[in-house]
Amino acid sequence: MDSIRAHLKQVQERIRLAAGSAGRPAAEIALLAVSKTRPVSDISEALEAGQDAFGENYLQEALPKINELRGTAAQWHFIGRIQSNKTRPIAENFDWVHSLDDVRHAQRLNDQRPEGLPPLNICLQVNVDIEQTKGGFLPDQVESAIKAIGKMPRLKLRGLMAIPAPADDFQAQREPFRRLREIRDRLATPELPLETLSMGMSDDIEAAIAEGATIVRVGTAIFGPRNPVVQAH
Ligand SMILES: *Cc1c(COP(=O)(O)O)cnc(C)c1O
Repeated sequence: MDSIRAHLKQVQERIRLAAGSAGRPAAEIALLAVSKTRPVSDISEALEAGQDAFGENYLQEALPKINELRGTAAQWHFIGRIQSNKTRPIAENFDWVHSLDDVRHAQRLNDQRPEGLPPLNICLQVNVDIEQTKGGFLPDQVESAIKAIGKMPRLKLRGLMAIPAPADDFQAQREPFRRLREIRDRLATPELPLETLSMGMSDDIEAAIAEGATIVRVGTAIFGPRNPVVQAH
């Protein structure tokens, strides 16, 4: 079986090729290793291979891993649904939040971010498919959210994030990513350049990079298929 190190190399190669096709420097695109449902031993293996950014969806699962890996190079990105009564451990333990979709959650994270830590990096999740069931600000809510959150001193608004519905075909995959980029291009200002586009997962990083992704979030292609039982909570 291929090791995590070999998988990381393959994904980096995919990023390099996709960046080349898009005429972009590969260094512009960061790889976030999505380690939800994976044991600490897998994360340690990725750390040893030089991967330092990890994405987690579930607080209960993430906190013991973060504690166990304190003192390592690991950086933690929260990419799951946020519950209002669980913002404090996010504010205290993570470096980034990609899945912010409620200004009230932003206010709580801002108030709860410990003084000794740098401001919490934030991406606003946008519901680019406009599916009622999914998380994220609707496209026409993003501007007012940026205005409110951009002023919060303990948060650093970095950009936008999306989780589009899966599509098989490259052109179909590109469409929602293009919509996210266009929202960013329309709302970016010199004060708030929104330089981060967090988009693309194992099956569609090429399409996301073609549309300007600066962070791709990859789980399966690095760590292998997830255990469906553990994934279900
Ligand atoms: C699980 C997850 C990923 C990674 O998905 P893969 O298909 O395993 O690469 C990326 N982003 C979010 C928000 C996720 O929940």
